[in-house]
Amino acid sequence: MEHRAIREECFEANLALPKTGLVDLTFGNVSVLDENVGVFAIKPSGVDYAALRAEDMVVVDLNGNVVAGKLRYSSDTPTHRRLFLAFAEYGVRSVVHTHSRCAVAFAQAGREIPCLGTTHADHFYGSVPVTRKMTDAEINGQYEWETGNVIVERFGGMNPLDVPAVLVNDHGPFVWNVSGGKAVEYALALEVAADMALKTLALSPGQAAVDETLLDKHFLRKHGKNAYYGQT
Ligand SMILES: [Zn+2]
Repeated sequence: MEHRAIREECFEANLALPKTGLVDLTFGNVSVLDENVGVFAIKPSGVDYAALRAEDMVVVDLNGNVVAGKLRYSSDTPTHRRLFLAFAEYGVRSVVHTHSRCAVAFAQAGREIPCLGTTHADHFYGSVPVTRKMTDAEINGQYEWETGNVIVERFGGMNPLDVPAVLVNDHGPFVWNVSGGKAVEYALALEVAADMALKTLALSPGQAAVDETLLDKHFLRKHGKNAYYGQT
């Protein structure tokens, strides 16, 4: 099998995704990049998770050409490709898209997910941003590619690993990380943080974000050069 390593990593991550409970029906896909070759593996379109095999993963280059695989790729592939083109230089190797319910609730409300506590701060260095609404021209044009463009536009010069997730307005979350396993883990962390934020805002509608001191403490003890949390 060509590109075996990324196809197996992608396959494992796509199997792990529905086990998190984040996926209703078949809404969800994971891709994994081989940054040395400039190709990524992605789930094929509309195949039942139970029937999925590693060799079904479609391999696409960064120009959008299929280089291996017999099935049609996920319709969201141009969004994944746009994100790899912008974020690979930061070490992003995997992208996950779901319609997980609490994150979608914020996306549909057009609201970012504020950092209201340490669960969020352990994973995301501040609010999880929401994109602007897409224009009619973007929706009627290369829709999935333009979805990637509004995400990249929203991140501007931000390091995408400081906040490895975004909400596409009226749509839902895209999450990324350094491996397929980490990206799936962060897709779950995002949904947990969104669920907690929804409940916090229901109890306390004007709730403010956590203090910067607490945010710094929780994010920086797990990420970056001074991290000390967990096993090395
Ligand atoms: Zn979607």
